[in-house]
Amino acid sequence: ERLATPAVRALRAYDPGHDLVALRARFAPAALVELGANENAYGPSPAARAAVLDVLNTLHRYPDPTGAALKARIARAQELDPAGVVLGNGSHELLMLIAQAFATPGTEVVASRYGFAVYALAAQAVGATLRLADALPPAHAMPLGHDLDALAAAVGPMTRIVYLANPNNPTGTWFPRAALERFLGRVPGEVLVVVDEAYAEFVDDPAAGSAVPLLAAHPNLVVTRTFSKAYALAGLRVGYALAHPQLAAVLERLRESFNVNSAAQAAALAALDDDAHLAWVVERNAEERAALAAALSARGLRVLPSQTNFLLVDFGRDTAALEPRLVAQGVVVRPVGGYGLPHCLRISVGTRDENRRLLAVLDGVLA
Ligand code: PMP
Repeated sequence: ERLATPAVRALRAYDPGHDLVALRARFAPAALVELGANENAYGPSPAARAAVLDVLNTLHRYPDPTGAALKARIARAQELDPAGVVLGNGSHELLMLIAQAFATPGTEVVASRYGFAVYALAAQAVGATLRLADALPPAHAMPLGHDLDALAAAVGPMTRIVYLANPNNPTGTWFPRAALERFLGRVPGEVLVVVDEAYAEFVDDPAAGSAVPLLAAHPNLVVTRTFSKAYALAGLRVGYALAHPQLAAVLERLRESFNVNSAAQAAALAALDDDAHLAWVVERNAEERAALAAALSARGLRVLPSQTNFLLVDFGRDTAALEPRLVAQGVVVRPVGGYGLPHCLRISVGTRDENRRLLAVLDGVLA
């Protein structure tokens, strides 16, 4: 401990919320409703599963260290140069690498108050100072969402990186591309703007819009994506960053040579070829999300708007006593007290059956 760098000594390990291994041992699979990690309730493309089985014959080989085939496929889908694609062991790794490459002790990293927790971790890991911008107020049409004016105002001479999520976790909120464009116009070109689009495939508000079309005009912009959410490959750990090729080359120097394993590369490639499965997942999720939001609202709970596969639910009172009672009955949701939202729980959208079970257990607990 004493020999670690000051930045690392100040770090706390990531808190996954629950001991899922213990819970899986305690409950029969059908009795456990896991809605705590924003995983995809519908599963990956059958083609992705088949691709993983094929890889079993070549497990003694290292993966392609360049990930060339997957990068080319991603580049084709996004209409970008493959040299502007970086693969990561989940997008989490890429968010950390960006901090490693661009921030040092004494510099600042800017994020929104309820921004995804990894941004703070990334800043702290390299000893940079985290500066949090106020979020939009609870009464705003996009409650607790990113306030891009406040974020721009928080950028100072020592700022090296701004992390934004669109949509954001744990709030589920989003911002229009036009607002991002204005933001990019206000932020100096030396500041890296990282737009985390982990949930982009779920977005159906046409105004929201991905940041990808802005990459060509903004060499300081990085967009991160993942196969963990809409593509349902969380267990394989694969994500990617899109950026100007020179910026991508910097991250390429830092990443571990074989950071994306062979099963992950094969599955991601197959998943990208199965548009029909993705469309089906996104449609099912939107339907269940609307139904679950309506059912929770009907119980007098405040549900924040969401363009993701989860809902932030405001119970109007501290949820610290309530949440363990859900877990005791096999319903796992995510406490967000660590985000300063002790009166809220984050609930992933499950299958119709899972959502029904959640509501039944919740009714018992709220009674
Ligand atoms: N960004 C956001 C906003 C997320 O919610 C998550 C996962 N919870 C990630 C990034 C990281 O996902 P992964 O490392 O699985 O790609």
